[in-house]
Amino acid sequence: MTQLAGTLYILSAPSGAGKTSLVKALLQQDEHVVVSVSHTTRAMRPGEIDGVDYNFVTMDAFNALIEQGQFLEYAEVFGNKYGTSQQWVKEQLVAGRDVILEIDWQGAEQVCRLMPEAVTVFILPPSRSALRERLNARGQDSADVIDGRMAAATSEMSHYPEYDYLLINDDFDTALAQLASLFRARRLRQSAQQTRHVELLQQLLSED
Ligand code: 5GP
Repeated sequence: MTQLAGTLYILSAPSGAGKTSLVKALLQQDEHVVVSVSHTTRAMRPGEIDGVDYNFVTMDAFNALIEQGQFLEYAEVFGNKYGTSQQWVKEQLVAGRDVILEIDWQGAEQVCRLMPEAVTVFILPPSRSALRERLNARGQDSADVIDGRMAAATSEMSHYPEYDYLLINDDFDTALAQLASLFRARRLRQSAQQTRHVELLQQLLSED
């Protein structure tokens, strides 16, 4: 495979752990990072924008994309389908950008099988009560839906041992600083620096 200059990050979290807000804030302060916009068959929520939050597609269109082999991974979550565009992710990595996939544990498993060099991060809430409060605070779903999401969150959280890094999102700024420092440190890995600074490294080792 072509040497990829960027790093692929997989971020998973139960709904309500603050993953999307953390990613948005990270993107604002780090120009080398981009986030993949997934395709989904779920209905658009108030405030969401097609092509920005997700590419909202019909089940038929989603199935056609599967047939065409367009997805790096796809999975069913809460009865809806979600998938990540293979081509876009690879293009970004080759261009030297770090790419974030905000996907569930099933997608993470598929991506890690194909790209074992991916860095996986699991974001957890500070407590169950905080998680419930955050799900309530959204005010977009009924009590039944929230109960269902609490149960789904427990099931999603049980997968944390499969991830490289764990982040507890108690204080937002602290969690953001931790996430940002992880990205900065990974960028200094020798293999990545070698790709970035080929000429400099050759020059430094050449005799005058
Ligand atoms: P929501 O519908 O609340 O935005 O997301 C529901 C769940 O689907 C979250 O756990 C989110 O990480 C996951 N998800 C979003 N996009 C993708 C994707 O492209 N692939 C997979 N496997 N999961 C996704």
